[in-house]
Amino acid sequence: MDISKELGENEQASEWEIPTPKNIFPRPCDWRKQEFINWTKLLSQGHVISNFEKDKISNNWIEHYRGIPHRKIIMALQLRANVYPTREFLATGRKDNQLKSCQHCGADTENCSRIISYCPAVQDARIKRHNYLCELLVKEAKKKEWVIFQEPLLRDDNNELYKSDLVFVKGDQALVVDITVRYESKSTSLADAATEKIKKYQH
Ligand SMILES: [Zn+2]
Repeated sequence: MDISKELGENEQASEWEIPTPKNIFPRPCDWRKQEFINWTKLLSQGHVISNFEKDKISNNWIEHYRGIPHRKIIMALQLRANVYPTREFLATGRKDNQLKSCQHCGADTENCSRIISYCPAVQDARIKRHNYLCELLVKEAKKKEWVIFQEPLLRDDNNELYKSDLVFVKGDQALVVDITVRYESKSTSLADAATEKIKKYQH
């Protein structure tokens, strides 16, 4: 109700007639965003975690984890949260001389980056992972009717041999596919890997 019209132009509204001022409530804080920011600030656990913010592809397994056995999901989450108990992680912040070296190959530090890319003890698993990823891509490419060449041996103008994992061909388009799995040790790790591969197969 518009009080001024009811009372007429010159009459003042009494204390009881004045409408209560509308409360302006603070916007509820975006706690999810805030927690993520706090996480990125953690020196060890937050290391380059910003890579995964709003990354639908990388986070798909967290939203739809049906394919992962329960006994492995905790381990997977530990890996994502940078709290997997590698020797390097367990030694962080300790004053005593906690052993940091790899329990399999004796390398100086046992951490995720090294296990994923270098430790010879898991070389077989690394090859299996590589082949599995190739199979996944081949399956998807077949569905989309690409012609697939597996590990074609190609020579460049200088007769140097190049062996990419896969070449997909459809119509006048060809895709050179070379798989690499990298640990995100810095915010540009994955982009750097992509650039490196593009350069390698550019010609
Ligand atoms: Zn090792």
